[in-house]
Amino acid sequence: MSLSSPRRATNTATHHPLLLTSRRRNHLFIAQERSQGVWTTMSSTVGKVIRCKAAVAWEAGKPLVIEEVEVAPPQAMEVRVKIAVTALCHTDVYFWEAKGQTPVFPRIFGHEAAGIVESVGEGVTELKPGDHVLPVFTGECKECRHCKSEESNMCDLLRINTDRGVMLNDGKSRFSINGKPIYHFVGTSTFSEYSVIHVGCLAKINPAAPMDKVCILSCGVSTGLGATLNVAKPPKGSTVAIFGLGAVGLSAAEGARIAGASRIIGVDLNPKRFDEAKKFGVTEFVNPKDHHKPVQEVLAEMTDGGVDRSIECTGSVNAMISAFECVHDGWGVAVLVGVPNKDDAFKTHPMNFLNEKTLKGTFFGNYKPRTDLPNVVEMYMRKELELEKFITHEVCLSEINKAFDYMLKGESLRCIIRMDR
Ligand code: NAD
Ligand code: ZN
Repeated sequence: MSLSSPRRATNTATHHPLLLTSRRRNHLFIAQERSQGVWTTMSSTVGKVIRCKAAVAWEAGKPLVIEEVEVAPPQAMEVRVKIAVTALCHTDVYFWEAKGQTPVFPRIFGHEAAGIVESVGEGVTELKPGDHVLPVFTGECKECRHCKSEESNMCDLLRINTDRGVMLNDGKSRFSINGKPIYHFVGTSTFSEYSVIHVGCLAKINPAAPMDKVCILSCGVSTGLGATLNVAKPPKGSTVAIFGLGAVGLSAAEGARIAGASRIIGVDLNPKRFDEAKKFGVTEFVNPKDHHKPVQEVLAEMTDGGVDRSIECTGSVNAMISAFECVHDGWGVAVLVGVPNKDDAFKTHPMNFLNEKTLKGTFFGNYKPRTDLPNVVEMYMRKELELEKFITHEVCLSEINKAFDYMLKGESLRCIIRMDR
């Protein structure tokens, strides 16, 4: 389907007036009443289809189009959320480009966000209208073996599935345009004014937390922070290499600083990233392009045999291999965070393992979304974690394609997208 198809051209042309009426109609009508110390929140949209704006990706790699979509009410164990702020993460860009990924279109991307519960489906007891939430791309059902294990956040029911574009309950999408389904992305689809999300993929957070800051904890920052604090666990005084100095890598650096690492070596192909990284405690910089030998050898020379910990936050399989091979034998631990292409294969000599180098990987920094994320928000509230420095750009929903440009040009760490403007 081409972006200039007559059908969509007509849609776009009729947008404006329709949107104005629908926005008025859908304005979240909240009446709060205090009874016996409990606030109850009523929305005029409960149980009804909501028509609202969303940025739809019709085709891989083509600019998103702001459309009026219909958002069905939540079914059992689902929650409809009014998204307040969303941000763009590189994972959205990978799946939108769909170069090495399964293409699922038309689709509503977006998974890093903060919002307010509009209504809840049958069986939802932990959340109620008015609650502030962070949607998360990987969920926590609280019942499976993984959720019951202290070591895992890979929930059997709700773990990330990038190929699925529908809800678990009935295998259907809650988004449509003129009856045609628009697919979900990782169960969150936050590039829409309203989204329907499984209750297990929503962390209830402190309502005093500013949503335009803590939205970035819903994916990138928690992922990098947890990759260091929960998985790599650098001992105090150790040397840590961070591959990729985007928001995820800089959060990993922030984790290394919090853990008391004495040297934090940033590795990136984009020299523009180095200046910014100084604000995040990165002490030294290596650009693999400046060297003739493999970067793992450069790092080994800088560190008398290898770094104690390395955290890969690029998505490049070559960087993953370098991140593993640059750790010290005997005790070095490498943690992979970047999302590889579909056909990538990790190749290293098995002797590296025999030499007691450890390779690990993590989704979402090993945080359990519902159990742990509210505490990460509290770290920000107690000023142990600074989020402002990650937010380099800000746009409104109608300008969402700019956020993609900033990321593709390597100009932004995080560009937040405000839904209410
Ligand atoms: P980003 O694009 O902002 O940053 C990536 C950085 O890596 C860029 O600065 C780029 O120049 C650098 N880079 C690319 N190839 C490199 C190479 N070969 N060597 C050194 N540097 C290289 O992206 P981001 O939003 O920070 O996300 C980083 C990665 O983390 C992405 O792959 C994203 O999909 C992934 N991610 C994973 C999880 C998870 O749970 N595992 C969660 C969120 C994001
Ligand atoms: Zn589970």
